[in-house]
Amino acid sequence: MNEALRGPSSGPLSGPLSGPLRRPAPDAVEQVKAALAARFGNKLSTAEAVRQQHANTTTWLPNEAPDAVVYAASTDDVQAAVKLCAAHKVPVVPFGTGTSLEGHVNAPLGGVSIDLSEMNRVLKVHAEDLDCVIEPGVTRKRLNEHLRDQGLFFPIDPGADASLGGMASTRASGTNAVRYGTMKDNVLSLKAVLANGEVLTTARRAKKSSAGYDLTRLFVGAEGTLGVITELTLKLAGIPEAISAGVCPFPSVEAACNATIATIQSGIPVARIELLDALQVRACNAYSKLALRETPTLFLEFHGSHAGVAEQSERFGEIAADLGGGPFEWTVKAEDRTKLWQARHDAYWAVINMRKGCRAFATDVCVPISRLAECVTATQEDIAAFELTAPIVGHVGDGNFHVSVLLDMDDVGEVARAKKFNERLVERSLSMDGTCTGEHGVGEGKIRYLEAEHGKTGLDVMRGIKRALDPDNIMNPGKIFSL
Ligand SMILES: Cc1cc2nc3c(=O)[nH]c(=O)nc-3n(C[C@H](O)[C@H](O)[C@H](O)COP(=O)(O)OP(=O)(O)OC[C@H]3O[C@@H](n4cnc5c(N)ncnc54)[C@H](O)[C@@H]3O)c2cc1C
Repeated sequence: MNEALRGPSSGPLSGPLSGPLRRPAPDAVEQVKAALAARFGNKLSTAEAVRQQHANTTTWLPNEAPDAVVYAASTDDVQAAVKLCAAHKVPVVPFGTGTSLEGHVNAPLGGVSIDLSEMNRVLKVHAEDLDCVIEPGVTRKRLNEHLRDQGLFFPIDPGADASLGGMASTRASGTNAVRYGTMKDNVLSLKAVLANGEVLTTARRAKKSSAGYDLTRLFVGAEGTLGVITELTLKLAGIPEAISAGVCPFPSVEAACNATIATIQSGIPVARIELLDALQVRACNAYSKLALRETPTLFLEFHGSHAGVAEQSERFGEIAADLGGGPFEWTVKAEDRTKLWQARHDAYWAVINMRKGCRAFATDVCVPISRLAECVTATQEDIAAFELTAPIVGHVGDGNFHVSVLLDMDDVGEVARAKKFNERLVERSLSMDGTCTGEHGVGEGKIRYLEAEHGKTGLDVMRGIKRALDPDNIMNPGKIFSL
C-alpha cells in the first residue's frame, strides 16, 4: 500500500470530534430520575440493557448510553420530561427507532432519552389535499399501510423502517428522492417542544407560504438539537397507475454512472435509480437469494401510465446500450418489484453478513450529478489502495452514494485506514462542491467536517441559532457541531 495512505488521520478534516462537553452534576441526574419516576411510573426505565438499546447500536461508533429512558405517549408527556430536564440542566436525547448511522442517539453526557415510539397515531389524512397529520413515532411502513386503501403513499424510504420523527430530524431520503425529493421537501409543518418546554407550531397546512422564516426547515435536519418533534404534517403522493422496475448490468461502475447522468440530463422522470458495484451485487445475491450477474448494476423504477412507464423503460434501455450496458430487463409485476427493492433496502445487512463479527462504517457523500462518475471512480481506486473490503451502493440519480467499509474493530490498522479513507472521500466530495453527508446527517461522526463544508461564518450562524433556542445546551448535546 502507498505509504502516504498509511499514516494516522492528520489532515484539515481530522480535528476533535467536538468541543469540551460537561456532564451534569450526578445529583442533578438523580433528582431528574426521581421526578420522572414520580411522573411516569413504569414508563421510565433505568435498566442497563434498555439504556444501551437507546444509544448507538448500528455502526462502528461506541455505544454511549443515557442515564434513563422515558416512553412518552403525548406532547404533554414530552413537555413534562423536557421541563424537568431543563430545570436541572440535564441532557435530552429524542429517540425514534435508533437506526441513524452517525451516533445521533448516543448520550455522551448521559441524560434522558425520550422514546417516541408510543406516539404512533396517524391523526388525520386529508386525501383531498394530499397531506396527513401524524405523531412522530409512526414508521414509514406503517404510514404506507395506513394510506394504501386511499390510493396514497408517502414516498421517502430509508432502508430501515425508521420513524417519521427521526426521518424529519435527519432530513432523510432514500431510493425515491430522485423523483419525490427528501424530507425537506415533504414536511409541510411540525410541532416541537422547545428546550424551555414551550410548544412551537412551525406552519399551517398550505402547500406554500412566504410568511417569515422557514421554521419547518430549520427543524428538519436539526437532529433533535433544537427541540423534540411531537407532530408532523406530511405531503402525500398518489400511487401511480403503473410502475415498472428492472435491473441493468454494466461493464464498469463508470459506465453505470454515465448512464445515470445521461438519464437525469435527458429529463426521463425516473423514480428510482440505484447503483450497486460488483461486490455489493455479490453480497445481495448471497443475503437476499438473488441470481444477478456479479458486475456493476443499476436497479431502476419508473412511475406513470402504462404507456408512460413502457416508454421511459425503453428510453433508458437505449441509453444503457449506448454506454455498453444491458440488457435492461424490466417488469411491471408487483412481487418481482418487491423482491428487488427489499434486496436493495437490505444492502447494509448484506454487507455486514459478508464477514461475521464485523461492523460497518457507512459513508455518505453527495456530489453534483455531472461529477458522479469521476467521484465514484476515484473512490474505487482509493478502496483498492487502502486494501479495504468496501462495497458501494448509491442513490445515484441524486449524485449520492455510500461506501460500506467492513471493519474488524480489533484490527487497529484497518480502523485507521478506514478513517483516513473516509476523510479523503469527504475531501473529494467537498472539492467537487458536494457534501459530507447526503442523507445520514452529522450526529457525532461527521462533526469534524462541518466547518470545511460550511465555513466558519456558516457554522457560527448555526451556533447562534442553537444558543438562542437552547442556551443551556440540553437538547442532544455533542451533535452536529461543538459550541
Ligand atoms: C439498513 C439501513 C439503511 C438505511 N438507509 C437509509 C437511506 O437510504 N436514507 C437515509 O436517509 N437514511 C438511511 N438510514 C439511516 C436511518 O434509517 C435514518 O437516519 C432515519 O431517518 C433515522 O430514523 P430513526 O427513527 O431511526 O431515528 P433515530 O435514529 O432514533 O434518531 C435520529 C436522530 O433524530 C433525532 N430524533 C428522533 N426522533 C425525534 C423527534 N421526534 N424529535 C426530534 N428529534 C428526533 C434523534 O435524537 C437523532 O438525533 C439507514 C439505516 C439503516 C440501518
